[in-house]
Amino acid sequence: MKSVTPALLLFLISLLLSALPDGSQAQPAAARLPRPAAYVRANSPSRSWELRNGHWFDGQRFKDRTVFVRNGLFQRRRPLHVDTVVDLRGQWVVPPFAEAHNHMLDGTAGLPEMIRKYLADGVYYVQVLTNSRSGAEQARPFLNRPQSVDVAYAHGGLTSTLGHPFMAYEPRAMGLYDPSQWATQQNRIARSRLRENDAYWFLDSLPAVAAKWPHIMAGRPDVLKIYLLHAREYDTRPRSGKPGEQGLRPAVAAEIVRRAHAKGLRVYAHIETADDFRLGVQMGVDGFAHAPTYGGNLADTLVSGALTAADLRAAGRRGIVVTPTVWVGSTYFAPADSARLRAFRAFQGRQLRAMVRHGVRPLVGADWWGETPVGEALAWEELGVFDHAMLLRLWSETTAQAIFPGRRIGRLVPGYEASLLGCTDNYLCVRAKFR
Ligand SMILES: [Zn+2]
Repeated sequence: MKSVTPALLLFLISLLLSALPDGSQAQPAAARLPRPAAYVRANSPSRSWELRNGHWFDGQRFKDRTVFVRNGLFQRRRPLHVDTVVDLRGQWVVPPFAEAHNHMLDGTAGLPEMIRKYLADGVYYVQVLTNSRSGAEQARPFLNRPQSVDVAYAHGGLTSTLGHPFMAYEPRAMGLYDPSQWATQQNRIARSRLRENDAYWFLDSLPAVAAKWPHIMAGRPDVLKIYLLHAREYDTRPRSGKPGEQGLRPAVAAEIVRRAHAKGLRVYAHIETADDFRLGVQMGVDGFAHAPTYGGNLADTLVSGALTAADLRAAGRRGIVVTPTVWVGSTYFAPADSARLRAFRAFQGRQLRAMVRHGVRPLVGADWWGETPVGEALAWEELGVFDHAMLLRLWSETTAQAIFPGRRIGRLVPGYEASLLGCTDNYLCVRAKFR
């Protein structure tokens, strides 16, 4: 059992996850379901639990029921023997929350604090969409185990020479932490390669992809991250000369997607514009990191247009997911910009609603250093686009299953991993208490 100290409003109980002995005792439905995490299967058979007096979220509403846990999985039937009875005392039970877009957990400095912060906010599943691979290797022993978060890593971002995310990593690796120093040190930074083939890879041509691919695969990434920044104008768009303005050439990006899919790996694309989105859909990416205009640059929308219903339908048919990063987007506006901020939020709200209407699944992901996705979930709530049941479903079920497509998580139903959050209040009431 994993137990987490109460934090803020949430009293979190988590019953973690013990064994499903291979080939035995699985409920009939389990054979058709994805398998639980390796560490769940590896543990010895756990105690069986009876969880009574809870209001359980079924994806639509809360229902009063008694639920049992056996071999680390939920079941509705009472087992022959119950080891422990837990009285949930009327708590509102929901699946754990998930974070689909961040760049942390790639080192041991501050790692225990960040794990605690995630767990305290009820976040058990995290996807890191670009990180230092060597840092992730140091952090791995502390992750993907009971009493910690489960993490999927993209490792180094795949871009062209000096493209984004070079500036997110190289200056800091050189000890230049203050961005105001970067302009004067630009030439020195541009020559440095301390984090090359670790936090970023430079892939300028198809032969470069062929040469570096085995080394990229050697890091055993869980997912890949490519960078598309006004990609169709790669050769024609005027540049200031500052590093970080561009990403991959379209042909190179397409080759990466082809190779990744041949290995069964999913690919997320960083995008800037609706045209980058279209290009990504055409080359078959699985997810987008950001929605177009996430950075508040509505001018880009004037050039390449907003996403159309046809764009979204094409993405929806392919099962594409998107982390729209609404929360971090609003930080691009000064407080005095309230009219523009309102326009930006209205745009984001329309875009989010249109995604869902056309079958594109939005995922909660903060993309905010040091923060959990609580702020992103609340930003969606402020947009007023979804009712609370939908918001809760997107945050727990949709986001968690997108990060770990092979696992039985995100639902409180028989055969699924027995992880849960017990809230002392209905989620509808919880919102105001988060901060
Ligand atoms: Zn990001």
